[in-house]
Amino acid sequence: MKIKEVKSHILQYDLKEELGYSQQYYQKRTGHLVEVVTDEGITGWGECFGPGNVAIANKVIVERVIQPMILGEDPLNRDVLWHRVYNLLRDHGQKGMPIQALSGVDIALWDILGKVTGLSISKLIGGRFREKVPVYGYGMMLRREKLLVLKDIFEDEAAAIKSAGFVATKMKVGLGPKQDVQLAEAVRRGVGDDFPFMVDANHCYTVDQALYVGRALEELEAYWFEEPVAPEDLVGYQELRTQLKINIAGGEAEFTRWGWRNLLEKRCLDIAQPEVCALGGISEYLRVLALAQAHFTQVINHVWGSAVAVATNLQLLAALPPLPGGIHPQEPMLEFDTTDNKFRDDLLTEPLNIQRQVAKSGGHVGVPDVPGHGAEPNREFLEHFALEV
Ligand code: CA
Repeated sequence: MKIKEVKSHILQYDLKEELGYSQQYYQKRTGHLVEVVTDEGITGWGECFGPGNVAIANKVIVERVIQPMILGEDPLNRDVLWHRVYNLLRDHGQKGMPIQALSGVDIALWDILGKVTGLSISKLIGGRFREKVPVYGYGMMLRREKLLVLKDIFEDEAAAIKSAGFVATKMKVGLGPKQDVQLAEAVRRGVGDDFPFMVDANHCYTVDQALYVGRALEELEAYWFEEPVAPEDLVGYQELRTQLKINIAGGEAEFTRWGWRNLLEKRCLDIAQPEVCALGGISEYLRVLALAQAHFTQVINHVWGSAVAVATNLQLLAALPPLPGGIHPQEPMLEFDTTDNKFRDDLLTEPLNIQRQVAKSGGHVGVPDVPGHGAEPNREFLEHFALEV
């Protein structure tokens, strides 16, 4: 079997409502799928992390830089191809866009392996510890509203996510430490006393600000505090972990085993959030997972993007070994975006129906036992939302 073509599909549409996180507001939803075509009629699908114009740069890397390195090769030689691409790109980017681009290609190669063998990715990487996973719904994105109005929006939205059946929820912060604490108080009011909620800062604080917000979040019994400081500030993460009781989560902006080694060795995180569509694909995710386990750090995957990313993560979560294990092990959760996202809800020929399953099953979703990750994009949908570049 040979790789015949490596193709990027960038999808985009205008959101009905502008949404934001601590770094920016955005008006468009973007998706970036990678299709690897073989000479035997089998096609694999992957996805690259990277919204907006970053997706355009990643498309060029996928099609013009990586494709020539792997064209005509056996797609089942996943690791050989991974290392060839990484070695050739090492001088030009050990993190960021080259690795995001490689991630989408690698996921597609795993999908091909699944289709060739008839096995799901969860079976291929070691088997299924669980047939269903609990789902947390994130929402409470920033809007350009006055704090008073935004507090009400957050309180209502948090209550709605809880009543939709999700097992936990996650909010954004980023207006400033004092305002952010008020937003977190609103979310706690919305979900009531016994429901877990998490807080995602997208690295908008200094260490001092993060200590202030973190202490308030401890009072509110928030479950984790995500990306409180810049991902480069490993000493800042260490300080927060020493001084705060709340779980410190992060890692979505870290890449490859070499980047993750530093985060984990320095004990920066209580909860590691590897992003498979960014850190180097499934091949590299498995190595990062081994590192996290070697450092006894709990893993709850970061999930963002289309139904291909969600389906891939479902497979990974099914195969995630409990750490440290026991009769009642701590279960991982699927991260799920509750905001408007056609690329997650309407992209596939057979939709995942996450929201319906969550509502029916007390917050859980079944892991499909299908070849590969099982996500097959609808060609007409791809054409309709294609961004021409
Ligand atoms: Ca995040």
